[in-house]
Amino acid sequence: MATNKLLYIATSNPGKLRDFAWAAQSINADVRLEPLPGLREITAPPEDEPSFMGNARTKAEYYSSFAPGEIVLADDSGLEVDALGGDPGVRSARFADDAAFAAHLPTDERNNCYLLERLKTVGPAPFAARYHCALVAAVDGRLVHSADGAVEGEIVSTPRGTAGFGYDPLFYLPQEKKTMAEIDPDTRLRLSHRGQALRNLLALL
Ligand code: IMP
Repeated sequence: MATNKLLYIATSNPGKLRDFAWAAQSINADVRLEPLPGLREITAPPEDEPSFMGNARTKAEYYSSFAPGEIVLADDSGLEVDALGGDPGVRSARFADDAAFAAHLPTDERNNCYLLERLKTVGPAPFAARYHCALVAAVDGRLVHSADGAVEGEIVSTPRGTAGFGYDPLFYLPQEKKTMAEIDPDTRLRLSHRGQALRNLLALL
C-alpha cells in the first residue's frame, strides 16, 4: 500500500493554509500537507531579506530545525504593483505598518486603504500588478528545493468581493472579469501563485 509523503507547512495564515491544502489535494501527488506542529509556540525568525525567496528560505531553514528529519515548507508571498516600483513587495503584510497608516483599522483593511492612497499619487489606471509566491522545502535546517509561482492582474480602485484575504478585494483578474475575492475556489486554485509554486515544488521533490 502506498504511503503518502508527509510535508509540514510552516504558516499560521489561514488563507495561505487553505490555498496550500486545496492545491495539494488537487495535485494528488501522494503527499500529505499538514501545518507544522507547535508553530504558534515558536518565535518567528526575522523576515528582513530583500526578496521573497530570501525570506522563504530563512523561514524554511529555521522552522525545519524544529521537526528533525522532516520536510518543512515555508513560503513568502506578496503583491507587486508596477506603478509603485514593485511595492509593497516583501513588505506586503506590513505595508500600512511601515507608514504608520490608520493604525485603528484591521491589518488587511488598512493595507488596502494605504495601497489606494499611494496609487492616487501615481495615476492613471489600470495598475498592473502580480501576486508572487516563493516556496522553499528544507530538512534539518538546510534548503533542499525551491520554486516560484506568480499570477498577473490589476489593482481596482474599489474593493469587490468577500472571499480570500489580504489584497484580494483589490486584485482584479481581467480574464475572469472578477477580483480574487469574487472568484470560486476552483478558479482560485487554478490561478493562484501558491498553487503554482506548490505544483512546481512537488515536481522537484
Ligand atoms: P507573508 O506572510 O510575509 O508571506 O505575507 C504575505 C502578505 O502578502 C499577506 O499578509 C497579504 O497581505 C499579501 N498576500 C500574499 N498572498 C496573498 C493572496 O493570495 N491574497 C491576498 N493577499 C496576499
